[in-house]
Amino acid sequence: MSKKILLDKINIPGIKTYEVYRQNGGYASVEKALKTLTPDEVVEEVKKSGIRGRGGAGFPAGMKWSFIDKKSGKPRHLVCNADESEPGTFKDRYLMEFIPHLLIEGMITSSFALGANLSYIYIRGEYMWVFKILEKAINEARAAGWLGKNILGTGYDLDLYVHCGAGAYICGEETALIESLEGKRGNPRIKPPFPAVSGLWANPTVVNNVETIAAVPWIINNSGDEYAKIGIGRSTGTKLISASGHIKNPGVYEIELGLSVDEFMNSDEYLGGMSSNRPLKALVPGGSSVPILPAELIFKTANGEDRLMSYESLSDGGFATGSMLGSGGFIVYNDTSCIVRNTWNFARFYHHESCGQCTPCREGTGWLEKILHRIENGHGREEDIELLWSIQSKIEGNTICPLGDAASWPVAAAIRHFKDEFEYHVRFPEKIKNRDHFVAEP
Ligand code: NAD
Ligand code: SF4
Repeated sequence: MSKKILLDKINIPGIKTYEVYRQNGGYASVEKALKTLTPDEVVEEVKKSGIRGRGGAGFPAGMKWSFIDKKSGKPRHLVCNADESEPGTFKDRYLMEFIPHLLIEGMITSSFALGANLSYIYIRGEYMWVFKILEKAINEARAAGWLGKNILGTGYDLDLYVHCGAGAYICGEETALIESLEGKRGNPRIKPPFPAVSGLWANPTVVNNVETIAAVPWIINNSGDEYAKIGIGRSTGTKLISASGHIKNPGVYEIELGLSVDEFMNSDEYLGGMSSNRPLKALVPGGSSVPILPAELIFKTANGEDRLMSYESLSDGGFATGSMLGSGGFIVYNDTSCIVRNTWNFARFYHHESCGQCTPCREGTGWLEKILHRIENGHGREEDIELLWSIQSKIEGNTICPLGDAASWPVAAAIRHFKDEFEYHVRFPEKIKNRDHFVAEP
């Protein structure tokens, strides 16, 4: 049984409410931090924990916190990125919907560490009902004295607001999120400067994912060293995984990093194996932005080692033979899945969500979508596969924000591992048009 530190209390009846959350040890980390630790000591514990950003990039959170400019005299901010929009990812919603006070507690303890007196939770517009749950939880916390002026009589003040986005995926990119929070169109900014130096209203700002902030109470209550004992190597702690696709038990799971992919996929404690007992064909382990893995690279790395649920093991061999842990959006495909159709679906999403600021992304994502659409619908041309490869390679690394990379990697990986499917689509257009597909019948 994997250790649980985020979901251990999620099934307690009434844990959504302030009273029950508090009765079960809630807000202890705020008391401990504000009454017994200095802000720098809180930062130090988070550094020792080794926790890496759970939004997808995996940047060490403690290091990000230590970049915050405390000498400028400017106000500082903590912004929680709750704009969870990565296809295949729904774990932050689960936390916020069912144990909202865990995030509020994490926001207070983390804001104290950063010296922030004004912090925000930026939530995606489609999560309106969760927005209301968070607002209620913030009001409860304020009424109980955990927010506002002179919290616990320590002289520390904090205002916390939840802000609702308007449905743009790009606003999950931290600088686009900041622009949106400032009331502007959500266009990503060029980095550097990173938000830690110049973020919200040009003030030093830390942007962290919901899951990262929700882990802070446990780290402060139990120490960074204890957290670092969980997991494997530089992948410390636990990770929430959103599991979907052709598996018996889809849902949100908390796993200890280092669990084998085999155990996660096939044991009854987790996904329970393939649904309908159909063969496994492919896996996207970390949300739509990361490369797809073919069946033969899912349980073993190219070196023949067991593939583990960790940042390092999932990316072993680079993109030639590996993928990424990303946001933990674990999408499983069986033999009835058409990889060309899936790749077109992802491309359509990235084209729709491109903000249009940089030419390679604005134009390139549209070209990828159009070419994949014609291949998938039986109008593909011999030169199309090479053209797709060329376009994706010109987007990658040539854009302001990672959306360009996210649009190109799935196309590259699909061609790399499933080129025969693309060729089949181009060579047998009539079969494709008649849906006389080469993939197994459901
Ligand atoms: P990034 O690697 O650019 O940055 C990671 C974080 O580290 C950022 O907060 C950045 O400010 C900080 N950082 C990096 N270098 C720094 C430095 N030198 N000084 C100070 N701070 C520094 O990646 P990103 O743009 O934040 O995230 C991309 C990832 O987001 C993708 O890998 C994708 O998996 C993920 N993603 C997740 C979702 C979701 O819904 N959870 C949606 C889209 C994308
Ligand atoms: Fe906008 Fe795409 Fe450029 Fe990102 S990469 S700034 S989404 S055009």
